[in-house]
Order: sequence, then structure tokens, then C-alpha cells
Amino acid sequence: MHAVPIGLPLQVLARSPGETLPDWLARAQLLPEACPIEGAFLTSLPPLVGEGSCGVAPAVRLEAPAGGKPGLPSRPEISCGLAGLLSTFFRQDLREIARRMLDEDVTEVLTGPGYVCRHRNGNPEAKISEHAKGEALDVTGFVLSSGVRVTVADDWGGESREAAFLKAVHSAACGHFTTVLGPEADADHADHFHLDRGCHGRDCTYRICQ
Ligand SMILES: [Zn+2]
Repeated sequence: MHAVPIGLPLQVLARSPGETLPDWLARAQLLPEACPIEGAFLTSLPPLVGEGSCGVAPAVRLEAPAGGKPGLPSRPEISCGLAGLLSTFFRQDLREIARRMLDEDVTEVLTGPGYVCRHRNGNPEAKISEHAKGEALDVTGFVLSSGVRVTVADDWGGESREAAFLKAVHSAACGHFTTVLGPEADADHADHFHLDRGCHGRDCTYRICQ
């Protein structure tokens, strides 16, 4: 195991439109088998393959960042690169915000499945979703050490401590991910934060934070 420099995108192999599966798998074989994120609880997976240009390599199932907390009970399947970013975000920012604002630890992060072969917002005419490359994760809520659940669906907005906590987590996410969409983005995101590391702009430095 060796550490991955924070903020550097790990190599991820997206399938090009029209690239045949054997060609893509041949390229995927060239990637390192292990996903080097120091201390993280994860399982390396064989390349995830779907129709069209869906696919993820190297792929992992992420269960927790280093230290084992917070756990991800849905064990999302995502790219190794996204797993690195999420591990840092959950272990550092999320933990610090929960301690400062709620005087609690976060024991679980509630998420979607990560990889899903689909187009943006389920529209077949739209571009392929970052979920279809394993580069996105939907976060629906958090379980605290007291057992309290804070969810985007129930706690976003208003004046509560939980609402302020969610707002702070959303803002902090914008420092790590190139796309962060929450309830203020549109109705599709009323009950979760969408986090991804998709490329926006010519040199992939533009960020979307809504
Ligand atoms: Zn999403």
C-alpha cells in the first residue's frame, strides 16, 4: 500500500464511444490491479462492463475510508479515483464538520450504488452520466454516533442545526469534487447530493457547485 497524492486524478479508463469491449478490456488490463488508497477498506473489482460506453476500470467496492469510519453500508461500486477523493472527504472534512457543528461523529454515510449504466437524468438523448463511468456517488444522508439520522430529504433547508450541517457538508464537497448538485440544483436532487469528478471546460478545471 502507498498513499495517493490528494487532488491528483488517478488514472481512470473511460470507454470511448464506439470502442469495442475487447479493445477496452485490453486497455484496462494495462492498469494496475490494486487500488492504492492508504488504509481504505475496499475491494478491488474486475472491470465493470455495461452497454454502450458504460464501464469502470480500475473499479472498487468502497466500504470505509482509513480508520474504518464512517462506514458506507451500501458499499458503492466506483472508480478507484473517486474512491480516493471520497475517502479523503469523509475522513477529514465530514468528520471535522460533524464534530464542530453537531459535537458528534458520523458513523455511516448513506449512499446510492455508485456505478449505474445510464444517461444524465435518465434521458436517453442526454450525455452519458458520470455514474456510468463509476465517477459519481449520490449521498442521501448520514448516521451520527448518537444514532440520529440526518438526511437531505428531511433536513435540508430551514434553521435547524442539522440543516446547517448539511449546508456545510455541501459547501465543503465543492472543494473536492468537480460537480456537486443538491436540492437547490433541481427537483431531481431534492433528496441527495450528487458528487462526481467529471471534466468540465477545456482543461477540466471548471467546477459546478449548486
Ligand atoms: Zn447522481
